[in-house]
Amino acid sequence: MTDFSELGLSPKVLRAVTEAGYEKPTPIQAGAIPPALEGKDVLGIAQTGTGKTASFTLPMICKLARGRARARMPRSLVLCPTRELAAQVAENFDTYSKHVKLTKALLIGGVSFKEQDVLIDKGVDVLIATPGRLLDHFERGKLLLTGIEIMVVDEADRMLDMGFIPDIERIFSLTPFTRQTLFFSATMAPEIERITNTFLSAPARVEVARQATASETIEQGVVMFKGSRRDRAASEKRAVLRALIEAEGEKCTNAIIFCNRKVDVDIVAKSLKKYGLNAEPIHGDLDQSQRTRTLDAFRNGDLKLLVASDVAARGLDIPSVSHVFNYDVPSHSEDYVHRIGRTGRAGRDGKAVMICAPSDEKNFAAIEKLIDKEIPRIENPVKSRAPEPKAEAPVEKAPEVQTAEEKPERSSRSSSSRRSRGGKSGGGSGGQSRQRDEAVVGMGDHMPQFIAMSFEERRAS
Ligand code: ADP
Ligand code: MG
Repeated sequence: MTDFSELGLSPKVLRAVTEAGYEKPTPIQAGAIPPALEGKDVLGIAQTGTGKTASFTLPMICKLARGRARARMPRSLVLCPTRELAAQVAENFDTYSKHVKLTKALLIGGVSFKEQDVLIDKGVDVLIATPGRLLDHFERGKLLLTGIEIMVVDEADRMLDMGFIPDIERIFSLTPFTRQTLFFSATMAPEIERITNTFLSAPARVEVARQATASETIEQGVVMFKGSRRDRAASEKRAVLRALIEAEGEKCTNAIIFCNRKVDVDIVAKSLKKYGLNAEPIHGDLDQSQRTRTLDAFRNGDLKLLVASDVAARGLDIPSVSHVFNYDVPSHSEDYVHRIGRTGRAGRDGKAVMICAPSDEKNFAAIEKLIDKEIPRIENPVKSRAPEPKAEAPVEKAPEVQTAEEKPERSSRSSSSRRSRGGKSGGGSGGQSRQRDEAVVGMGDHMPQFIAMSFEERRAS
């Protein structure tokens, strides 16, 4: 295996790498650093957690160390899809350039223009930015991109998902065509292939570990979940999630819970907290300081459960987690690989459990196809915990249940009345309820899912 000292890095950078505690370069670093140092364009294809950041920051620092910054004309540019990623790249720069004198500016939302303008005016060696914010600065006329010698596009596939490709193309066209381009992506979607064909010239292509093979070391499972009724499915699904987390017990030291939508990130985090679990949400709509606080807490172990959207979690530098819970089946199958790649790193055991609703089945099939493997089915932990006879009883009352299904607006009321009875159920209360017509609707009480849920609720309280 290659050593860092064989890659052609400068002694000062090598020293910083050693001090960072890295012993050997990762495959993407070993593959990308030498051509980058030679001034070649690089197309790096590697999944999350493979060490891509150092594979572009290290050669950049070496190259930028020769030469000086000029006012308003940054010499290099790193584009990242999210603020967190940009901030992380900036941190990496600080770590690796500590023995080299370089200036940098971070252009991300949530940080004032003024501060950043001052830095840019003075001249920076490295500009780290999200595409939108960079273009905002550019349009305010405070920034010239004609001095860019090296341009990095990090997490290009995520840029694509977030609709940043037109911005990226525009930024490419604002920089000199003589620039060196280092381009990184976990996957090569056709649109990304097109961009690289257009803007990279004769790149060294460095590809490590095909994305679909990420999952080999991770124990996976899926619960095929169907709500008892449409209006209850969401809360029942949250109960399933809680039960899955509980079922892992102490084995679950820290976990990321992925939701497809921001609103669900909030709802799920709130619900977990309500049930006494140590959880916080992270997504793009939360303000920067809150996101930073949440991430710090997660990194240092104060926070156990991070509820996240794909975008927020993408590429976050989080030491391996013991578990990944997919509250939703991701709609892009590659995201599944990214998500579960958060666990089982560095040879440690990892477990990834997903909940699949009927509407997710198509996406689920696509995932199994991508990873070319059947994900073992896990029994719904909520259902299996419910006492069997009670769970079966309601089948006889199926007609009433249907009534309820047609009148979901009533069911919420009945659901609270149910809860106040502490989840008591069975034939006894049935006769009573039948005297009031709304309460009869509430006899959906006898749905097996509900019985299980209230059981859960009682356990948690
Ligand atoms: P990616 O961008 O590919 O998702 P990162 O650059 O964020 O990956 O690196 C993931 C983690 O691996 C970080 O915690 C980083 O500090 C660590 N890391 C990177 N390179 C090495 C190395 N050569 N040896 C040990 N750890 C490394
Ligand atoms: Mg990265």
